[in-house]
Amino acid sequence: MKTKVIPYGRQHITEEDIEAVSKALTEDYLTQGPKIAEFEKAFAAYVGADYAIAVSNGTAALHLCALALGVQPGDKVITSPITFAASANCIRYCGGEVVFADIEPDTYLLDINSVEDLLKKAPKGTYKGIVPVDFAGRAVNMEAFRELADAHGLWIIEDSCHAPGGYFMDSKGMPQNCGNGAFADLAIFSFHPVKHIASGEGGMITTNNPELYENLMQLRTHGILKDENRYVNSIEFAGGIDKYPSWYMEMQQLGFNYRITDFQCALGLSQLKRAAQGLEKRKDIAKKYFTAFEGLPFIKGQSGVVDGHAYHLYVIEVHDRLGLYEYLREQGVFAQIHYIPCHLMPYYRAFGWKEGDLPYSENYYRHCISLPMYPTLSDEDQEYVIGKILKHAKGTDN
Ligand SMILES: *Cc1c(COP(=O)(O)O)cnc(C)c1O
Repeated sequence: MKTKVIPYGRQHITEEDIEAVSKALTEDYLTQGPKIAEFEKAFAAYVGADYAIAVSNGTAALHLCALALGVQPGDKVITSPITFAASANCIRYCGGEVVFADIEPDTYLLDINSVEDLLKKAPKGTYKGIVPVDFAGRAVNMEAFRELADAHGLWIIEDSCHAPGGYFMDSKGMPQNCGNGAFADLAIFSFHPVKHIASGEGGMITTNNPELYENLMQLRTHGILKDENRYVNSIEFAGGIDKYPSWYMEMQQLGFNYRITDFQCALGLSQLKRAAQGLEKRKDIAKKYFTAFEGLPFIKGQSGVVDGHAYHLYVIEVHDRLGLYEYLREQGVFAQIHYIPCHLMPYYRAFGWKEGDLPYSENYYRHCISLPMYPTLSDEDQEYVIGKILKHAKGTDN
């Protein structure tokens, strides 16, 4: 009999969260209220960036970044295939061409050497940007990517959906937070319930670049500008005499409605207060998995214990992946697979991508499985999961 259902990830909603949202619902604004700027400010401080722009979801954040960086039809942009499809799709929304580079087999992150190979083989100017992904919560060495990007005149969008609170150590031995704007031009986060911080749907862009910030704020809301110093139409046209009337605004570029609501930001803010605590719990869970599986031959690789890892996911690679997946489901443990390589999705195959193009990514996909990882996973439930994995491994004798 199934007694348990343990998912791979889940949100954690507390009484404080409920109170915060209830309070926001009784205020004057449902959307475009004060909680949005408050959440932006608090989030920027959390990751250590100068600016943050809250948007309706992580995919909208990626789309706005691609727009703000001026991706045009035919522009080539490099990303990892081991990510959620949105990291690549944002380039397609602007008509750009996605070029996938392989991952490093040990970190599962976009391999800087394979990116460099692509750049070296092509005439200068062929590629416009790179979208590295802090996959599973492990921070990309963005300093190294910045150096490479600068040498080739490229921009960087860091997809940090998995890594709020994650960091890498720079060449001076200093921790550099994911999305802190020190190296990537723009970084994006998601507040989907399965991520570290939940707001229902929700996303955030962070940057240290004031021009990109201004532009993104406009693009988030239809490309509308309200700033009399930058209007193009005359005061007379606007209907004023010696100044622009206060109703006046200008739509100067084609934007979208990618706004987030005030009550979602109230939830995000409340969750953000517990983010550091949740991160510690994730690290504890990772350590327990690591210790339980250390040295076992049936596990080819695992996320391991890495400083600065934000542990959105805890991935292991096993020989009998399908067998383990099915067995765990029978036992009520809903592990997941992250990800089917993007380049092998039918949509991207239609551009000519095929099996064999990116061997490390494809090999990773054949073996990977993401184990339950969320701050409210109890010790008892984790031990249950570990016990089942060990049992299955003995049974299959590989
Ligand atoms: C969740 C996620 C996204 C998209 O975020 P949404 O809020 O679901 O639109 C993009 N990239 C990665 C790596 C993600 O995990």
